Amino acid sequence: MSAEHYDLVVVGSGFGSLFFVEGFLRKRPTARVLVLERGRHHSHRWQIENGRNSAVAPEDTYRTPPGHKIWNFTIGLGGGTNCWFAQTPRFHPSDFRLRTLYGVGQDWPFGYDELEPYYVLAERKMAVAGSPDMAELLPRSAPFPLPPHALTSVDRVMRAAQPAFHFPMATARASAVNPQRARCCASARCNLCPVDAKFTFENGFRNLREHPSVEFRTECPVTRLDLANDTVQGVIYETGGEERRASGELYVLGANALHSPAILLRSGADHPFTGVGIHEQAGYSVEVLLDGLDNFDGGTITTALNYALYDGEFRRSYGSALIYFENRWPYGLRTEFGRWRQLAPLVVVVEDLPQDQNRVVVDDDGMPRVLHERISEYARVGVERSFEALEKVLAPLPVERIDFKGMRATESHVQGSLRMGRDPATSVVDADQVHHRLRNLVVVGSAVFPTGPCANPSLTVAAMSLRSADRLA
Ligand SMILES: Cc1cc2nc3c(=O)[nH]c(=O)nc-3n(C[C@H](O)[C@H](O)[C@H](O)COP(=O)(O)OP(=O)(O)OC[C@H]3O[C@@H](n4cnc5c(N)ncnc54)[C@H](O)[C@@H]3O)c2cc1C
Ligand code: SF4
Repeated sequence: MSAEHYDLVVVGSGFGSLFFVEGFLRKRPTARVLVLERGRHHSHRWQIENGRNSAVAPEDTYRTPPGHKIWNFTIGLGGGTNCWFAQTPRFHPSDFRLRTLYGVGQDWPFGYDELEPYYVLAERKMAVAGSPDMAELLPRSAPFPLPPHALTSVDRVMRAAQPAFHFPMATARASAVNPQRARCCASARCNLCPVDAKFTFENGFRNLREHPSVEFRTECPVTRLDLANDTVQGVIYETGGEERRASGELYVLGANALHSPAILLRSGADHPFTGVGIHEQAGYSVEVLLDGLDNFDGGTITTALNYALYDGEFRRSYGSALIYFENRWPYGLRTEFGRWRQLAPLVVVVEDLPQDQNRVVVDDDGMPRVLHERISEYARVGVERSFEALEKVLAPLPVERIDFKGMRATESHVQGSLRMGRDPATSVVDADQVHHRLRNLVVVGSAVFPTGPCANPSLTVAAMSLRSADRLA
């Protein structure tokens, strides 16, 4: 086993890891960084030609009992930046204080205000498009880098009637040509964007890819961490059929919320919450038939978010819901002559709370097994109540009928298996994302979320990594 030494040894190259390295190098530009990535580098061209984001299917990397939930993610250089749809809403200030405000879940160890400057930096890096009006709901200290995408006719009616709730989508799909990438043309297949309009590792992290002291090594799965005296002594990984070891001053674990806990479990890290509480949001699809209002004239795949069911006292009893207004037609257009576009597909996403029985464990052969039989009662009731409330929310529209189109198998968000908190007895990492016991280990990515707000996670993952790196570097 040969040995190598770096300032920073990083496991995984997804959102959490990349934004941590970005933040670290802002303060320590000459730091020597090694990034060990399990997957290959699949270029944009490779992904388009092969119609997938990775040669490795997520379900080949873990086991789950029959009937349990499935999980979706990308194994490859850049992780989730390859497959994501680039929806980038911030979390709501209340999301960070669920226990204080509503007596459920846990508070995050820092609040919205503390994360806000890092939200700005993450949005700049991703060239996020959005409307300044959104600041009324989610306060911001700087404008969005790009203007918002055009709303649909449906959105314009909703926005006029509900200016406090209905906002143009915040998204890292470019609304204007910019030095990083092309403009989004609403082709609506963003996991494989044909024109490269969304932010990815390949088009957005050239600075790291070409950085003289950063080395990305692909096809190097990390199997375990070498632990002694409450510190990480090294990272053990495989390459070309051999086992190798790399050591560093600081270690960053960013292998996603399913594989990061598996690595810790294989290493013998014994915090009782390791792997515990894995979760994501509960989503469902709806199709709204409209009388005389044509849709699908917006500027991108998802044009608006409606926050009418997002926050309030009801969160004491059931989960909040965020409504995504879609500029695409997953169930086809209408068949009646001349009424093809008189419909509005929606996706409703409901927050879930982590449950301790849902967890990642490791089989005898080292393969992760995810136990997740069902969503919480909190989320189940949230689904029911949000669907009942839709008629009222959509009252400004000429609604003919609202059709429930079924629960979505996954929101493609893996979260909460190495939760963050101030108390070492009930959380795995502290407010800076440093492991409570292994003080030279930082855990990044959505693994550390203590609760599961219904907004998309990756902008928050990025902002948190920038914050953590700023404090630790
Ligand atoms: C189809 C799809 C669409 C999505 N759309 C959105 C969206 O629009 N908006 C949004 O906010 N989020 C979206 N997401 C979710 C987003 O991808 C995740 O929230 C985000 O990637 C989480 O970041 P992370 O750093 O925790 O993990 P990842 O980005 O998944 O990074 C983990 C990295 O670790 C690597 N790895 C795994 N195991 C090992 C190992 N043993 N050794 C070394 N490396 C390893 C992986 O290959 C990967 O590179 C989407 C996800 C999918 C699948
Ligand atoms: S809507 Fe089309 S052009 Fe825009 S990001 Fe998605 S796939 Fe790319």
